[in-house]
Amino acid sequence: MKSDTHEINPYRSIEAALLWAKTQGLEPLEAELLLLHVTKHTKERSRTWLRTHLSDQLSASELIQYRDLCIRRIDQQPLAYLTGTREFYGLKLHVDNRVLDPRPDTETLVDWALDAMHHIPLPVVADLGTGSGAIALAIKHNHPTAQVFAIDKCVDALAVAKRNALQLQLTISFLQGSWLEPLTPYRCHLIVSNPPYIAENDPHLPALRHEPLKALTSGKDGLDDIRALILQAPDFLIESGQLLLEHGFDQSDTVQQLMQQRGFIEVVSRTDIHGHVRCTGGTWLG
Ligand code: GLN
Repeated sequence: MKSDTHEINPYRSIEAALLWAKTQGLEPLEAELLLLHVTKHTKERSRTWLRTHLSDQLSASELIQYRDLCIRRIDQQPLAYLTGTREFYGLKLHVDNRVLDPRPDTETLVDWALDAMHHIPLPVVADLGTGSGAIALAIKHNHPTAQVFAIDKCVDALAVAKRNALQLQLTISFLQGSWLEPLTPYRCHLIVSNPPYIAENDPHLPALRHEPLKALTSGKDGLDDIRALILQAPDFLIESGQLLLEHGFDQSDTVQQLMQQRGFIEVVSRTDIHGHVRCTGGTWLG
């Protein structure tokens, strides 16, 4: 009997596709995730499935799409933009280049926010510069009785956050405007934010060039927005309300000083999963 192996094009196999990505300098894990992404219309498959079907053939269009995604990843586009999803605090979020790709570092801020309000039955919380809605949605998901405001100046970012809220069926109040401005006349138990905090001339910025610059940088030392937030926040906090901010790994001393100078008490910092001092918070006595 005639073998049908002659019909198999070795250049179209899963194995060849993964090898090709490796020769282009792509991490094997990332190549696998991109390959799963382009083949998911046929069936939701796992990486184990890929590894046990190395000789399976990809269609021409899958191959073209896969190569295109690999090339974009090599050009440092965030993997989450290429697959359109990012898992954050156990939630599957849609992300694209209208918003910052949420980092696992930011989960520290969510942990802290949930700790700070666990004893409050009906907390009012504001997430400033919500972007994809990651922080606001994680808070609402884990403390369903909270009233959560998600604020962003950027209409495009709010569209992404609203899409995520709809998808996850979480009720959030979205407001458009600069920092706390649109919150008037509300006062909160808790204000949280992962604002832009990178210095304008930071040498790492070129690697982040596919993400929105205004979500990343904030003036010469990266602290312009943090200064503005610390200044404004007390007008929007109830007595004993808390302000929790994410910041750069080397900014905690300065952020602590800024909060103390403004009159916050119990100013402390927390470390992220990479061991960087990533968040600082304080209490406003009113
Ligand atoms: N943490 C991000 C980074 O350093 C930046 C996020 C931000 O500016 N809020 O890549």
